[in-house]
Amino acid sequence: MTTTLEITDNTAAFVEKAPLERYVAPEKPSLVGMPRAALADALGELSVPEAQRKMRVQQLWHWIYVRGFTEFDGMSSVSKELRAALAEKFTLARPEVVAEQVSVDGTRKWLLRLPGETQGERPHEVECVYIPDSERGTLCVSSQVGCTLTCTFCHTGTQRLVRNLTSGEIVGQVMAARDKLGDWPGGVRPSDGVIPAGDRCITNIVMMGMGEPLYNFESVRDAILIMADGEGIGISKRRITLSTSGVVPNIERAGAEIGCLLAVSLHAVNDELRDTLVPLNRKYPIADLLEACRNYPGASNARRITFEYVMLKGVNDSIEEAKALVRLLKGIPAKINLIPFNPWPGSKYDCSDWDQIEKFSQVVFDAGYASPVRTPRGRDILAACGQLKSATEKLSARERMALRAMAMTD
Ligand code: SAH
Ligand code: SF4
Repeated sequence: MTTTLEITDNTAAFVEKAPLERYVAPEKPSLVGMPRAALADALGELSVPEAQRKMRVQQLWHWIYVRGFTEFDGMSSVSKELRAALAEKFTLARPEVVAEQVSVDGTRKWLLRLPGETQGERPHEVECVYIPDSERGTLCVSSQVGCTLTCTFCHTGTQRLVRNLTSGEIVGQVMAARDKLGDWPGGVRPSDGVIPAGDRCITNIVMMGMGEPLYNFESVRDAILIMADGEGIGISKRRITLSTSGVVPNIERAGAEIGCLLAVSLHAVNDELRDTLVPLNRKYPIADLLEACRNYPGASNARRITFEYVMLKGVNDSIEEAKALVRLLKGIPAKINLIPFNPWPGSKYDCSDWDQIEKFSQVVFDAGYASPVRTPRGRDILAACGQLKSATEKLSARERMALRAMAMTD
């Protein structure tokens, strides 16, 4: 069941899917993704005296986010009584991983199962992708099931169902990935694929999976603040990037309330084309978007804003457009990421030819932007957002098992 929401305050209105806020909450909520203040309140409900709550939160925080515990048992600094009381009301559950694919280049993709809208109905699913190299491990995290926006080159935009993820489901992706990677003290790393040197498998986070993070602001904010908390997961805000298609009013808010790095999906240098590629542009045109970027708190040469530009053959990939792109971004501390289009079944675009991408990138490079082309990763496992989900949606249970088995042995 999908409802649509007509935006009427603009002459060239665009149709947006309405997000579904309902879902079957688990009987026992997970403490994963609960901000410290909510955790303190939860302890209050269990009659922990107020004077002790801060200290208890600190202890739990350590077991959950530094040690990766999935059960209250074994939390040796927490009294037996409190552990039992916690276990009665709460869990430390993360989203269930229902499929895993490992690419020949070490990229790992997980399909995660989340509670659906009604009891007994099929569960919701999102993806999370791990992209390792020798120095860093980047986790690409989803913020919504599907997306209310309808960018014409994006497969997630075609998905019918949209639901905002909770903060717990967003942080839960990091926790589930760390579980799978053995990325906890004393954990066992996978024997296949590349894992970066150093003591942590996940060093960077990008909110570039399914969904528009700035349309799920509070949950994304709470989740990022938890990921960045120095006494827990501890991934610095300078290593967390939020990608937006251009929800202008929330860009300033993201700067003030989150403070992570920003990436903007630009994809076109004039409003006419951007209106079709990224229909949200009809509401927030390029000039407004770039103004918000110019004012983004904390943007500097050391903390540049990334502009993403998907290379679509014959659509946005001319040399004139490359020149216009560097002109447009003049004065903004920017990085440019040229993304080869990742085609999906039924998509109406082709990826630009490689020599055209090189010519385009040369213009960008000559203007002073380093290494502008993002190497496509995990192509053999369909790494564009939304594709693992749709591939498995059509599969029977047996085929899903086969897919999982294949992913294990690939
Ligand atoms: N909704 C947010 C974040 C998720 S999409 C946004 O749009 O920024 C993450 C990035 O992948 C965006 O830059 C998006 O434009 C790009 N993208 C989507 N589909 C793609 C495809 N098929 N090929 C290449 N890039 C794609
Ligand atoms: Fe949504 Fe981003 Fe895809 Fe556009 S590119 S439909 S905003 S996920």
